[in-house]
Amino acid sequence: MSERILTGIKPTGQLTLGNYIAVLKNLRKMNDRGECFIFIADLHALTLPIEPDVLRQNSIDLAAFYLAAGLDPEKNALFLQSSVSAHAELNAIMQNYLYMGELSRMTQFKDKSAKLKENAIGLGLFAYPVLMACDIVLYDATTIPVGEDQVQHIELTRDLVNRINNRYGEILTMPKAELRKVGKRIMSLSDPTVKMSKSDPKGDIFLKDDPAVIRKKIMSAVTDLGCEVKYDEENKPGISNLLQIYCCMKDISIEEAEQRFVGYRYGDFKKAVADAVIEELEPFQQRYREIVANKSYEKALQEGAKKASVIANQTLKRVQKAIGLLQE
Ligand code: ATP
Ligand code: MG
Repeated sequence: MSERILTGIKPTGQLTLGNYIAVLKNLRKMNDRGECFIFIADLHALTLPIEPDVLRQNSIDLAAFYLAAGLDPEKNALFLQSSVSAHAELNAIMQNYLYMGELSRMTQFKDKSAKLKENAIGLGLFAYPVLMACDIVLYDATTIPVGEDQVQHIELTRDLVNRINNRYGEILTMPKAELRKVGKRIMSLSDPTVKMSKSDPKGDIFLKDDPAVIRKKIMSAVTDLGCEVKYDEENKPGISNLLQIYCCMKDISIEEAEQRFVGYRYGDFKKAVADAVIEELEPFQQRYREIVANKSYEKALQEGAKKASVIANQTLKRVQKAIGLLQE
């Protein structure tokens, strides 16, 4: 079977440079590699409190960003997770095949729940990886481009696929996480020991930031002792993070970037990083504004949901039959 690529982002807040590097930057190339299912994970966005208007607006923004990044809606499917009901239906089945013990080991759950009072932790936050596994297996996805923080969830999906296939025969396809060599985990500019995250926006570069704001954020990014521009995550987390960002923007290796910045002072290096980010994001932001204005995301989402539903319903039927649910 040819490659089936699936990837999603939650409409929980303003998209960051981390999301851009993990998913959006690679979309254009993905169009040519195989069939792509690209979705807005709006059901997942409910795992932490969110206002209805904010959720709606974030979902529109995300659709426009996907298109601005070069997703071809004719060739591939762009859709809202909630508009394909098979996600929720398969979730009702698969929640019985993943266990409390394994879900409680997920670091995303530990991190996100640690910030909440016990009786404010929704069941959905705990069960998030079950729905995520359904998102993936519904499309027989083989390749899942993600950041490093999602690898644990994909490993769990792989365990689920093994579990189901061993019990019921080969009914699900085994997925694989695809990580960038450089830029798997972009860190906060104000604290390079924590991940840049849209729901914890401290030291983030937002995809909607004006170029002047982007420059200011990069110029005031936390750096480290010393003066050499060298990749050393342990002793130079700030510089290493900026190096990663630069490499992603220019599509070069860390070694090449280190070579380029021999003899640079931190200030001049940061200026080069800011130039690279702005050069990449400015045209992207321009396309995004055009798409928001002409609302081309509306048709793309409708068509995408239709395409996605056909495939998702086939898988759902296959699973229902195999496990003994009576289906016509
Ligand atoms: P939230 O705080 O709501 O979890 P997020 O920024 O982590 O927001 P997600 O919607 O959870 O965004 O993730 C979308 C994709 O972006 C995933 O593939 C995730 O691995 C990737 N990603 C998120 N943050 C980073 C980051 N800092 N570096 C690299 N990839 C990232
Ligand atoms: Mg996240």
